[in-house]
Amino acid sequence: MTTTAATSTDVFSRPAARFVAGGLEIRASALGQCRRALWYTATEQPVTNPTQPESLTLLEAGNALEPVVVRAMRRAGWRVSAADRDDPMSVTVEAAPGLTVTGHPDATGCPPSEGGDAAAVEQFLFGADEPVGPAEDLVIEVKTRGPKAFKRWQTLGAERSHPESVAQAACYSLGLFGECRDVVIATLDTGARVWDHEVIPAARAERAWRNATGRLEALAKHHAERGPDPEALPERDFTASDWQCQRCPYLNLCQPGEAGEAEYDVEPAEPVSDEQAREALREYERTQARIKSLEADKRGALKTLQHWLLGRGETKAKLEGSAKQRTVGVVTSRRYSVDHQRLNALLEPEQRAEIVTESVSEYLRVS
Ligand code: SF4
Repeated sequence: MTTTAATSTDVFSRPAARFVAGGLEIRASALGQCRRALWYTATEQPVTNPTQPESLTLLEAGNALEPVVVRAMRRAGWRVSAADRDDPMSVTVEAAPGLTVTGHPDATGCPPSEGGDAAAVEQFLFGADEPVGPAEDLVIEVKTRGPKAFKRWQTLGAERSHPESVAQAACYSLGLFGECRDVVIATLDTGARVWDHEVIPAARAERAWRNATGRLEALAKHHAERGPDPEALPERDFTASDWQCQRCPYLNLCQPGEAGEAEYDVEPAEPVSDEQAREALREYERTQARIKSLEADKRGALKTLQHWLLGRGETKAKLEGSAKQRTVGVVTSRRYSVDHQRLNALLEPEQRAEIVTESVSEYLRVS
């Protein structure tokens, strides 16, 4: 394992995969990428599906917000040392024979001590024997996600929603500390601009690292056997309908004619003209306006009934309606919530998969 400083231009412009003297070098942030796409990159194939300007803007906005997360963590009592963005520290880890993984950690640090500021003040005033809070630094991997991906991460945990980010943090831990410690994933919701974190215990972080590098070890073997041959393509890891392929810069090279197909899998039974669609939209708007006005009337009537009940000092009463007698009553509802952060910390990903399940439904939204 080596730790070196490199210029920011070197680090940020480094390809996801390249051939080096010792074999194959993979960028830590590309640990979850398709092996065939990595092969295209390492053999310097021309990009056929460049990233759209909108996606680049999104990516740059996400990167620019990372220091915001670090400052928010410090305000919440975390001790955080962030990477120098102009001169970031680079780490290289030998994952397997002929396979190295390299990258630049976002930050290291540790959570607020148990007991928070009060404990720290007590230690300062009375000189506790042992330091308060965790003594050792942990790797902090900072991510920014849109609202849906943020919610998915909170609910499922990073090992299920973004396992590559856990492997990436484990790589930095190995590179910086020579051992896989607990790692922290700190994520900002770019919609609501709130942040949250998850601590992945060392054993689980190490497993994510082994899973990711075990997959790439096959690519390193492929390189050892075939050399840097652009024609000797490894198997595809995904199919055209997967988002990985739809966003892949080599989609047209790998699967010609498949670009964009996944978006058109819902065909209307009968062709609908633009004019018919516009009329349907106007009808939708008229109906929405009527519903809003009716909802406002309903809320006003309920408010009056609530005051009437309160005035009688009752929680339930009978009242004659236009067609029948009805009961007007206060209903108490109870909601239960799950602390996903604690659940994720306590359970292995496989156990969580049995408890927190995921289902996908589709509906049409007009905004
Ligand atoms: S198009 Fe899909 S299978 Fe082909 S290289 Fe890209 S991600 Fe891999």
